[in-house]
Amino acid sequence: MESQSMLFRGDAIARRVDDAYWVPLKVNILAWCADMDRLPTKTALQRSRVNIANDNCSLCDSEVESMTHLFTRSSFSFSVWSAIDERYLGFTHDATDFTPEKEYDYIIIGGGTAGCPLAATLSEKYSVLLLERGGVPSSDPTLLFEDRLLNPLLSTNPFNSPAQSFFSDGVLNFRGRVLGGSSMINFGFYSRAEDFFYQNSGIELDMSAVNSSYEWVENSIITRPARLRRFQTSMFNALLEAGVRPDNNFTVDHIQGTKVGGSIFDDSGRRHGAVELLSKGNPETLNVVVHAIVDRIIFSTSNTSLAAVGVKYHDSKGTNHEVHVRTGGEVILSAGAIGSPQLLLLSGLGPKSSLSSLNIPVVLDNPFVGQYMADHPRSSINILVPVTLIDDGLRIVGITDSGPYMQSTVIPRLASIIPFIPFLDLIPPTNLSVVVIGGKAFHLYWPIGTQGFI
Ligand SMILES: Cc1cc2nc3c(=O)[nH]c(=O)nc-3n(C[C@H](O)[C@H](O)[C@H](O)COP(=O)(O)OP(=O)(O)OC[C@H]3O[C@@H](n4cnc5c(N)ncnc54)[C@H](O)[C@@H]3O)c2cc1C
Repeated sequence: MESQSMLFRGDAIARRVDDAYWVPLKVNILAWCADMDRLPTKTALQRSRVNIANDNCSLCDSEVESMTHLFTRSSFSFSVWSAIDERYLGFTHDATDFTPEKEYDYIIIGGGTAGCPLAATLSEKYSVLLLERGGVPSSDPTLLFEDRLLNPLLSTNPFNSPAQSFFSDGVLNFRGRVLGGSSMINFGFYSRAEDFFYQNSGIELDMSAVNSSYEWVENSIITRPARLRRFQTSMFNALLEAGVRPDNNFTVDHIQGTKVGGSIFDDSGRRHGAVELLSKGNPETLNVVVHAIVDRIIFSTSNTSLAAVGVKYHDSKGTNHEVHVRTGGEVILSAGAIGSPQLLLLSGLGPKSSLSSLNIPVVLDNPFVGQYMADHPRSSINILVPVTLIDDGLRIVGITDSGPYMQSTVIPRLASIIPFIPFLDLIPPTNLSVVVIGGKAFHLYWPIGTQGFI
């Protein structure tokens, strides 16, 4: 029932979005000016995304004398970027140039969204080796800007692109292959986990440690949007009008209602992915190795126990390496939802029949490895809009009382969207935006057919 009513209520969203294109710019300026107490200094302005080299406005070419100039003379959004923290480069090595120590306390496989913060925090007390198959993000600058969000997804290759494409049940999907993992190719919306997760995960969690971890991440890489842009404001109001209540204003919690959420993109659209958390690591004890493709986990077996004691990996020249943990140390697998079970299977842990059919020696017969993978599907409406909307990224989410949630984004102007939408190349790109409004399942425990999407 809920899914039908959501479909119906989607009309309200479409109507409201349509109205928004005719809202005079003045309204936006007034809204922005209401935020004046948060306006940064002129020095910060000079670092903003708006090009004001020599203190001249890129839009009207007169001197930028104050903040008000940009608010009154341009429809450009004002924004300040925070510098990308690349101190981790000081202890990051290419696998071809790196000779590992004999042993480490921890070896972490996969320098992604989970692997980077794990490596940084463990290095406070222990020696840590982090192995990542991809390269560093700065080798592909398109990863770092929200207005080029889709570029990495549209330029994949089977070998070394930062985004790797794959099909899951016939649906095109992507995963990261770069230091920082999928946080370097994703849409950047940030949320804490929902209560449902804590109650049903089966893991006993120390919630004060969980909350301080959240704060650590939020203080390091998450931006609370200084204000909403034109389309985002319309989307927010429309969700409320459509009945997705209450109005939760800004929150990082995943709770019912309409909210502004945090983002790993700052207000000027620069990405602050998980890779930056590595910079919090201890340079004396942390070694990060890129282009290190782990082939197998090494296990020691005895009659009573099975323990991971090391890994085998190869570098971009095809040279094989082997590295071990010291007694009592651990190998941590954080290679993603696909990479982690794949490595367990390659290492001989999994259903005996599958491993034997591929001639992989069985270390442990476990029928669950690689099974029960559930996807997180999204269905979207694409709306072609005959005006240019500027960089309205993913900041608004409406979470319905029965679970499914809605989000929207404007496809960036600099991304090539032609493969997604037929005939688009016939319309001058300067006069066009594509708005995507998508619905997603809330969690995966529901029977198929009850997960309403718009
Ligand atoms: C297009 C897209 C948009 C998304 N948008 C959002 C969003 O807005 N908000 C949100 O919360 N989530 C979003 N997600 C989901 C989110 O990005 C992922 O859930 C999250 O990044 C997964 O983290 P992870 O640490 O499990 O894996 P990853 O971050 O993918 O890290 C795994 C790492 O392991 C490495 N690896 C794999 N195999 C090996 C190997 N054999 N040897 C060495 N290294 C290996 C990979 O290269 C990768 O760096 C999005 C995902 C995609 C693809």
